[in-house]
Amino acid sequence: MGQEHKINCEKCGQQQSYGNHKYHLTKNHRYGMMLCDICVAANHDGFRPEDEEWLHLMCLKYNREPPEQDELGFFPFE
Ligand SMILES: [Zn+2]
Repeated sequence: MGQEHKINCEKCGQQQSYGNHKYHLTKNHRYGMMLCDICVAANHDGFRPEDEEWLHLMCLKYNREPPEQDELGFFPFE
């Protein structure tokens, strides 16, 4: 029997299953954070300008380069 873990999404804070054939989070390899399926679907084309502060916190936490904003103010997802 597999073990089911609960992990909080690092964007919305929702607790999701991770393990026992239910993987509702994925690791974002650019930033190193765990994101739930909903946040991945909502942000896969880029993080919004209002996510800047949160993204910078994630970069500090996981020791990543802060991302460049594009001309519309969006940040790269991957
Ligand atoms: Zn989420």
